[in-house]
Amino acid sequence: MSPSRPWPLTVPEGPEVEVAVLDLGPQLVGEGVNLAYARSGSPVLRRFQPRDLATAGHVVESVRREGKHFVVHFRGVGDAMVFHFGMSGRLSVIPADPSDPSWPPGGPHAQLALALAGAWLVYVDPRKFGSVRWATPEEVAAWALVPDPIRDPKFGEADLRARVQRPAWGRRAVKPLLMDPRFISGVGNIYAAEALHLAGVHPAARARDLSHGQLSDLAHALADVLRAAVLRGGTSVKSYRRAGGSTGSHQYWLRVYGRTSCGSCEHPVSRVAQCGRITHFCPQCQPARDGAAQEAS
Ligand SMILES: [Zn+2]
Repeated sequence: MSPSRPWPLTVPEGPEVEVAVLDLGPQLVGEGVNLAYARSGSPVLRRFQPRDLATAGHVVESVRREGKHFVVHFRGVGDAMVFHFGMSGRLSVIPADPSDPSWPPGGPHAQLALALAGAWLVYVDPRKFGSVRWATPEEVAAWALVPDPIRDPKFGEADLRARVQRPAWGRRAVKPLLMDPRFISGVGNIYAAEALHLAGVHPAARARDLSHGQLSDLAHALADVLRAAVLRGGTSVKSYRRAGGSTGSHQYWLRVYGRTSCGSCEHPVSRVAQCGRITHFCPQCQPARDGAAQEAS
């Protein structure tokens, strides 16, 4: 059931970052780190201040995901170190081999390396669209206020309904709205398309025109699709790999994204541009509802 069409542009989304946290958290929490390498002139590090990581070891207190951010808290340090993987960024822990003279650790695309005891935490980003920076506690707290279908066990129709009732969100098409990190946490092009397909909602439907039943279906679909992707190690299209280098497997469960025919009904998948991104949907499973625009807001 693998798709025959080349993958469109993709970026790591919430599930891929969640998998990185699950993979790396146990290796990092409690470890002391020191700055070992920061690539000179790297656009990834444009907003990164090494601060005293260069001279004093910090101990990792926690590693968590907020939206599509990989957030590292250090003991006794207010600001958190935040990685955004952009299109091709990946964090990994690799053993430090004293007999290997190659530098930097992680190879030529390494942007940042932190020294752990006997290992390196390396951020590699060949296309350099990611970022590493410090975020204030207030900034991290604001991210945590956005509903997160992966993390919130009670995420449901009420979360979506309360938000689409705000005029600025309600008037927008549902697909780009789902990808807005202020609206819902962790959803990008792949999972927005898949959740809308699972819920049978047309991607261009105006958010406030969705019925309670559609919002309920969509909320369940978001939670199901995102959580399933985490359990499958993420969706490996283009360059995404897990921290240890292996691939995820959710790409084998995609129903519309990157496909030529619908995984449910085999109708040809439509591709339309929305806000500069390509949206995949099935016209048969996700029919447009004419006249719905005049209904309840
Ligand atoms: Zn279909």
